[in-house]
Amino acid sequence: MRYDVVIIGAGMSGLAAGVRLAHFGKRVLIVEQHALWGGLNSFYKKGGHHFDVGLHAVTNWLAPGYRGSRIPMQRILRQLRISWEELGLEPQTRSSVWFDDARMVFTNDLAVLTQEVQRCFPDQVDGFVRLSERCAEYPEANHDTPPVSTRRVLTEYLSDSLLVDMLLCPLMFYGNAEEEDMDFEQFVILFNSIYREGFCRPRRGVRQVLDVLTDKYTELGGELRRRTPVERLVVKDGRVTEVVLGRGENVEADVVLSSAGLVETMAMRSDVDDDRFEPLAGKLAFTENIWLLDEDPKALGFEDCVTFFNRGPGFAWRSPEAPVDLSSGVICVPGNYAHAEPLDRHMVRATHLANHRVWFEWDEARYREEKGAYIQRSLATVAERGGDLSGHVTYTDGFTPRTVTQFTRHRNGAVYGSPHKVKSGCTEVENLYLCGTDQGFVGIVGAMLSGIAMANQHGLRG
Ligand SMILES: Cc1cc2nc3c(=O)[nH]c(=O)nc-3n(C[C@H](O)[C@H](O)[C@H](O)COP(=O)(O)OP(=O)(O)OC[C@H]3O[C@@H](n4cnc5c(N)ncnc54)[C@H](O)[C@@H]3O)c2cc1C
Repeated sequence: MRYDVVIIGAGMSGLAAGVRLAHFGKRVLIVEQHALWGGLNSFYKKGGHHFDVGLHAVTNWLAPGYRGSRIPMQRILRQLRISWEELGLEPQTRSSVWFDDARMVFTNDLAVLTQEVQRCFPDQVDGFVRLSERCAEYPEANHDTPPVSTRRVLTEYLSDSLLVDMLLCPLMFYGNAEEEDMDFEQFVILFNSIYREGFCRPRRGVRQVLDVLTDKYTELGGELRRRTPVERLVVKDGRVTEVVLGRGENVEADVVLSSAGLVETMAMRSDVDDDRFEPLAGKLAFTENIWLLDEDPKALGFEDCVTFFNRGPGFAWRSPEAPVDLSSGVICVPGNYAHAEPLDRHMVRATHLANHRVWFEWDEARYREEKGAYIQRSLATVAERGGDLSGHVTYTDGFTPRTVTQFTRHRNGAVYGSPHKVKSGCTEVENLYLCGTDQGFVGIVGAMLSGIAMANQHGLRG
């Protein structure tokens, strides 16, 4: 069987790329190793409850009737021909960054954060305003430029290390694959996505986004095969000549677009049998815990949609020595978004950095025991930023780096992939390109933008 484009992975980037290509009449096949689509932002049912794997916040809120300069969510709607109503996005009410010594609230209006900087760090506000202006004016870039240290650039604007850490914390948690620092271009993208445009949430959760993408894709004639891993990419004379699927079938394609990740995709190549890409694998992994409650979290003291917190001195953005780093994290309360109708259940979610090695080393019994223990410790940590939830929990679930790898095949369970991003999407193989996580655009919106951009640049040319 021959296709114009084979896409590896039915996550947000693969699906968006598929819709874009199918719009232009390309013969497209998406192959997904898992039984479900959505990748890192998929969905599942457990204990009779439906869950999203990962949805805390969709970034890059677009208000209805927005008439300003072009922003990412508009580009997604326009390029994928999706109406604003189809995504059903509803804005956040407020979120906050909460360190021991300060708490700053932010909303989808940057002026609120500016006022908070003024309130908590009065001598820093001029620098913050200059920094936000630089982010607003920053040229759009989508090519391989050498990384620039954000921490170094921020010294030109801010002298208070607490403010620097507080501003970085949400950006690190929502999209940084690198330990300690981040590329300034990535900082700008995330600053604008989180602080300038802000958070929203589809009323029906991630299914709402995924249903729109999969419906469009199949209506346009795109083919999606689930439970179909790509096992091997046969490379001859610098081109992929065959895509070997897990069911023993081979397909051919003019272009192969992979959302599986840089190291993961290189490991599929028949012409590479060394480990040279392995050191590029990501190390930043997370645990995610979910609690269903018999009480509205707001009534228990949780006012924010998302709370980014840090306890103790300094903010460490690195793979921890301990299995889970409970000194920082993200708490999400989906019901606190400005949903037109209240959600039909009460939920709190919490994310923490996790050690990418230990969760893979334990045997099954130890793994389960540690997972249960860390979920309890996480609950106690969450209580410090709101109130005690323990008497109200009706159902608990959680996942670890091991779960992420099991369901998506990402090395080390590294949600944001390799710190080495390939912004052009090009690989050494002429017709093999990356999209999504390791092309450098992460998160739901970033992944969709990446799929669109890589489809335009590499799938629609010629
Ligand atoms: C717990 C959690 C919470 C999150 N919360 C948010 C949030 O609130 N907001 C936000 O914007 N982002 C969030 N994210 C991040 C976001 O989900 C991802 O950045 C984004 O979905 C990545 O999409 P992708 O298409 O690049 O990659 P992926 O989703 O990883 O898609 C790649 C796909 O390729 C498939 N695949 C891999 N190898 C093969 C193979 N050999 N053959 C066939 N298929 C293969 C995988 O199964 C997967 O489906 C969260 C992620 C997690 C894990």
